[in-house]
Amino acid sequence: MIVIDAGHGGDDPGAIGNNIIEKDLNLDISKYMYNRFRELGVPVQMTRTTDETLPPDERVRRVINAFGNNPNVIVLSNHINAGVGDGAEVIYALRNTSTLPNLILEELAKAGQNIRKAYQRRLPSDTAKDYYFMQRETGNTQAITIEYGFLDNAADAAQLKNNWQNYAEAVVKAVMQYLKLPYIPPVGIDVYIVQPGDTLWSIAKKLNTTVDDLKATNNLTTNLLSVGQILKIPSVEPVPIPPVPGEYTEYVVKSGDTLYSIAKRYGISVDKLIQFNNLKTSDLSIGQILKIPTPGVTPPIEVPSGEFISYTVQPGDNLYSIAQRYNTTIDELMKTNNLTTTLLSIGQILKIPVTPSIPLEPTPEYIEYIVQPGDNLYAIAKKYDTTTTEIMQFNNLKSNLLSIGQVLKIPKSSSGQITYVVKSGDNLYSIAKKYNTTVDEIKIKNNLKSNLLNIGQVLVI
Ligand SMILES: [Zn+2]
Repeated sequence: MIVIDAGHGGDDPGAIGNNIIEKDLNLDISKYMYNRFRELGVPVQMTRTTDETLPPDERVRRVINAFGNNPNVIVLSNHINAGVGDGAEVIYALRNTSTLPNLILEELAKAGQNIRKAYQRRLPSDTAKDYYFMQRETGNTQAITIEYGFLDNAADAAQLKNNWQNYAEAVVKAVMQYLKLPYIPPVGIDVYIVQPGDTLWSIAKKLNTTVDDLKATNNLTTNLLSVGQILKIPSVEPVPIPPVPGEYTEYVVKSGDTLYSIAKRYGISVDKLIQFNNLKTSDLSIGQILKIPTPGVTPPIEVPSGEFISYTVQPGDNLYSIAQRYNTTIDELMKTNNLTTTLLSIGQILKIPVTPSIPLEPTPEYIEYIVQPGDNLYAIAKKYDTTTTEIMQFNNLKSNLLSIGQVLKIPKSSSGQITYVVKSGDNLYSIAKKYNTTVDEIKIKNNLKSNLLNIGQVLVI
């Protein structure tokens, strides 16, 4: 059982500095934790949920009343420090051990915060008692005060502003570890928990972003990661509703959206989006509703009526196994065969709706390349991640001699990467439009520092 205490509040702002008001950040952190513990199924209460003035006795009363005066209650009192220092520290009661405080510090360190220490503090006038009321007056509970950093230290303040969610999550993780309860990272789309074997490169790939973006978003100065480290996923906006497996979400097209940007946001391909929504064009209109397939869900396929095959039920068959084998559903089988029960008899003949295979798109997917002085087929093939044979076939070339100015069609590489050779009159905007992407996207992919292009420059789209 957990009681979360947002330090200060109302008339008592706590520390103030570098545009941080302690009571507000304490409340933000506390609300975040409250939601996370609820998600994780741990009983949780808050001492205050608004900007309320809480005198110590009332605060303590709420702590004790939340789940009773019980050693199984963990109290997390959230504070931001001030007074010339840097990093996080944890204060725990004389009646408790340092196990949980140290776990909290370890996780905060993984989340990128500097760590000071976990300590107990005694009342000078009665050294058998705790110095702070949050430890002294809170009965048998395990009362822990967490100071996340120093807001009067500019560097710490900046980190607190950017990373407070990571720090709050670090504490959640430590508590789950301490309770030996399964920890599930936030379902939110904007954080990623580093798993064993991960590298920045593999994560970037997984998250459909770049190593540079990952490093920039997380203020990383090295490529070293630690397991459990929480990374912010570079993303403009979190996905509104997390897709439920086996279903789809609806997305309302907003100004500036493209099929590419939407597909990217949801980690699916543009093709899948088009297929799933039966789109005939890549133009979107604001307010248009798109169905976003959950990864792994194939789009519903219309079965032309009248196309069946006959299947004779074999020993061991059931509707589920047959449906699986023929890529259909139990419902579909029952409907097609007017079945009123799922019981089958051996030798029974079932009509199986035939699933038409999805016709392969013809591949007009190529780019045009103008042969430059000094070019040869091999160099061009290499540049575009294809082969000389493929280029020769694609262009019906009888020899590998090229002439300057000759236009070659280059098939898109198998990796799906599109390259584009800048022509006279092109600009980033027109190219982005042509490929249904954004100027920023192209700049990131090509490491462009400005919008200036040179004719003949090769861009990865
Ligand atoms: Zn405080």
